Amino acid sequence: MALIVQKYGGTSVGSVERIQSVAKRVRETVQGGNTVVVVVSAMGKTTDGLVGLAKQISPNPSRREMDMLLSTGEQVSIALMSMALQEMGQPAISLTGAQVGIVTEAEYSLARILEIKTERMQRHLEQGKVIVVAGFQGISSIDELEITTLGRGGSDTSAVALAAALKANLCEIYTDVPGILTTDPRLVPQAKLMDEITCDEMLELASLGAKVLHPRSVEIAKNYGIPLVVRSSWTDDPGTKVVSPIPKPRPLVGLEITKAVDAVEFDTDQAKVALLRVPDRPGIAARLFGEIARQNVNVDLIIQSIHEGNSNDIAFTVVKNALLKAEAVAEAIAPALRSHPANDREAEVIVEKQMAKISIAGAGMIGRPGIAAQMFKALSAANVNIEMISTSEVKVSCTIAPDDCDRAIQALCEVFEVEDSPVCANNIAIGFAAAQGAIASSNAPPVRGVALDINQAQIAIRHVPDRPGLAAQIFGVLAQKISASIQLFNPNAVVLSTIIPPAILPLLSHKPMQK
Ligand code: ADP
Ligand code: ASP
Ligand code: MG
Repeated sequence: MALIVQKYGGTSVGSVERIQSVAKRVRETVQGGNTVVVVVSAMGKTTDGLVGLAKQISPNPSRREMDMLLSTGEQVSIALMSMALQEMGQPAISLTGAQVGIVTEAEYSLARILEIKTERMQRHLEQGKVIVVAGFQGISSIDELEITTLGRGGSDTSAVALAAALKANLCEIYTDVPGILTTDPRLVPQAKLMDEITCDEMLELASLGAKVLHPRSVEIAKNYGIPLVVRSSWTDDPGTKVVSPIPKPRPLVGLEITKAVDAVEFDTDQAKVALLRVPDRPGIAARLFGEIARQNVNVDLIIQSIHEGNSNDIAFTVVKNALLKAEAVAEAIAPALRSHPANDREAEVIVEKQMAKISIAGAGMIGRPGIAAQMFKALSAANVNIEMISTSEVKVSCTIAPDDCDRAIQALCEVFEVEDSPVCANNIAIGFAAAQGAIASSNAPPVRGVALDINQAQIAIRHVPDRPGLAAQIFGVLAQKISASIQLFNPNAVVLSTIIPPAILPLLSHKPMQK
């Protein structure tokens, strides 16, 4: 007999008929000899509707009242789902996040789960009931039992966290597509369904905007080794398995308050090629990197930065012994770019023969912009100048002078309490593939998927001096003001630009930074 947590998203419970159809599936799972905990989202587009209502009353409603409002959506669906189950003769009980004891930080609208009490759920399960839990919500234990929400799409996170707390055998995420596809099937009908994907791959896709899974749910699945499946609530097809390596045992208290950084990685074998002032038009990067690929040169970091006017800088790193080839390609392409009429100043190739790359990696960085700022601060305190910065939500990499590498490693290991000896980036790929044994790396395609996030805005800070501490100062300020994630680019320390959710733009002060 297995304990299964099943989560049904908004469309899956969008009407009375859908609720009845889901109840039937739940009942069949129970009849198959399983114990079932169901997590449901608000019906259809209810949450969007509630957001719209609030906006009609106030352009900037308080986060507390928004949580009070939005959490009501899920309360409707749990009650209806429980009724539908009872109507079929299946004993069931609906519980809100507070009634279950999903304890979160005292932080509205983006609260992380600290702990889930399981006693009450165990009692109901022993009585043969299906428990129907409201997704996306919790309760703060400190501030007078305040209702909190986990962030849009957070029901996935509720479900995987419940699976971890209950030590469930399986967590199934039922949705309105057949599983995880190579990209959003609503935008690209030819997108292909994947049978399996690794947690790390899914984390990248989810954090880049593939909303089929809330990134934090993937992080929890990875940390606690929860078998996770995404499938359609309309069919019996098996969907997509999200595969995690066997995790180290970890406590269930502080569930989502994980250590932000798992590893400090370094690579001292890098060189940089930069093409400055190339025309800002489609096809330039394709031409450059197409030619680089034809020469069989592996490119590591790629950073494109904006300029005033119609030009860009494109900088990339390669392993040192491929520098001559990469430089030759860039030099060969540069004259063709010079002839472009929009290019009033000449494109120029700059090469740096040796540099080191230092990275921090860890799923715990998701949604914590302060981590990147903390990294820059630590590097600045160690008097390490950062040249290029590249980020994803689970990794921040900086290129630095090779002589600074040891100091940088030491500083980062100290700040992020990474005790194991840091890893050379080349070895990571090997260890990673081995850990992910379930998916033969040789069969894995070079690109697993494509994600789109249309909800982004960009700010650029120009003329930033190239000296230690500046990135730390700027992103320290941003991190204080932003509770959402930021991604940033720092080419040649000329422009620091960052991509942020547009909603936080008004929060940023327009005062010029102190140089
Ligand atoms: P639910 O309400 O079930 O939680 P969501 O709307 O949050 O559903 O997530 C499912 C949606 O995610 C799909 O309808 C699809 O449009 C979108 N999506 C984006 N990227 C992907 C992807 N790579 N694979 C599958 N679905 C994706
Ligand atoms: N109802 C919430 C939302 O629409 C949570 C969820 O669906 O996961 O964001
Ligand atoms: Mg969702």
